[in-house]
Amino acid sequence: MLSLGKCLQTGARLCKSRSIASLSALSETHQMLQKTCRDFSDNELIPIAAKVDREHLYPAEQIQKMGELGLMAVSVEERFGGTGLDYLAYSIAMEEISRGCASAGVIMSVNNSLYLGPIERYGNEQQKQKYVAGYTDGKTVGCFALSEPGNGSDAGAASTTATLRGDRWILNGTKSWITNAYEAGSAVVFATTDKNLKHKGISAFIVPKDTKGFTLGKKEDKLGIRGSSTAQLIFEDCEIPKENLLGETGFGFKIAMQTLDAGRIGIASQALGIAQASLECAVDYANKRIAFGKPISKLQAIQSKIADMAVSLDSARLLTWRAAWMKDNKKPYTKEAAQAKLAASEAATFCAHQCIQILGGMGYVSDMPAERHYRDARITEIYEGTSEIQRLVIAGQVIKELSS
Ligand SMILES: Cc1cc2nc3c(=O)[nH]c(=O)nc-3n(C[C@H](O)[C@H](O)[C@H](O)COP(=O)(O)OP(=O)(O)OC[C@H]3O[C@@H](n4cnc5c(N)ncnc54)[C@H](O)[C@@H]3O)c2cc1C
Repeated sequence: MLSLGKCLQTGARLCKSRSIASLSALSETHQMLQKTCRDFSDNELIPIAAKVDREHLYPAEQIQKMGELGLMAVSVEERFGGTGLDYLAYSIAMEEISRGCASAGVIMSVNNSLYLGPIERYGNEQQKQKYVAGYTDGKTVGCFALSEPGNGSDAGAASTTATLRGDRWILNGTKSWITNAYEAGSAVVFATTDKNLKHKGISAFIVPKDTKGFTLGKKEDKLGIRGSSTAQLIFEDCEIPKENLLGETGFGFKIAMQTLDAGRIGIASQALGIAQASLECAVDYANKRIAFGKPISKLQAIQSKIADMAVSLDSARLLTWRAAWMKDNKKPYTKEAAQAKLAASEAATFCAHQCIQILGGMGYVSDMPAERHYRDARITEIYEGTSEIQRLVIAGQVIKELSS
């Protein structure tokens, strides 16, 4: 399979200088990427998505093919095996993959933005050689462990501890809800090195899976995104070398928050893919279903739903592309990423809900993908910051901007 990096290199350089105004007409690179990912979704993901969901199957073969295409490390530097494209490219690819299979979307998102992202940004050369290269080809993935049984939204209250003993860190505690837990070769783990300092006492560590004292909890039985594993990571006197500290001690909360800013663009894009799949499913069905002597797509009540779906989806997509553009252009984007994630996740649940309504009884059974989209959409309003937390982030920034 020809890697995206090779066929898109020239265009990628061009697109870096494009302004947000030109996003309505994507660069040639982005259009090629979109088409490649759309074809991949149609041919490789849509045919297996129902089975992945029904049987809770990790789509290993498809993830490996995504790795061969360069999708498991879209924005990672080429010298570490990444594709070297920008974040807008990542957002476009994430949307297309999630349109085909939301489970493949979250597996890709966690590897790209939550695992590779912080190591590439904060890791030293040795850490990058060891824990970035080797996680770009889809054969091995990484995970990100911030949440705990006692705290999710309140991530600064981490109770997992890391104690320095000689040249080793000793980790103790439990991380909850960790995506890719069962498949990951390594985890970026957040633990407190000084509880008195609260969130300023949190540090980040890279923990390989085969480390003694590191075990997994049971796989969670989830409402949606069932092809991705979710489980606890349990650390009991788990010893890692001193050099596995990521960044400086006490810098972990900042690493987590900056990583989540970028991650939210990925989840917004996943939500766009689910919303797009719902819209396509609804229109296709409405054109075929005859009621009162004509296709239901001719009924104004159905057209009104389709119009509302299209507006929520397109406005969320523009917010998401703006956030990606701001990141690519090194502008602050915390507020924009939260706006994108809030709008796109609410668009996904709205579009999936309307899709079921347009399909009537057929929307309620698993013969059609509508009910899966509905279940898959729901998580996008919860992970990487709930909608309530996105609203807090947005309001905080807006009030600061307008009060200064
Ligand atoms: C399938 C799945 C995959 C996940 N993957 C990962 C992963 O890979 N890594 C990881 O670290 N975590 C992961 N998570 C955890 C996820 O990020 C958390 O579930 C999420 O942040 C919410 O935390 P919580 O579940 O503890 O809810 P809580 O924080 O207990 O929140 C409960 C409710 O209270 C609201 N609330 C809390 N605080 C406030 C506030 N200040 N103002 C207003 N409302 C508030 C919330 O919005 C929510 O409605 C995953 C979760 C799931 C379900």
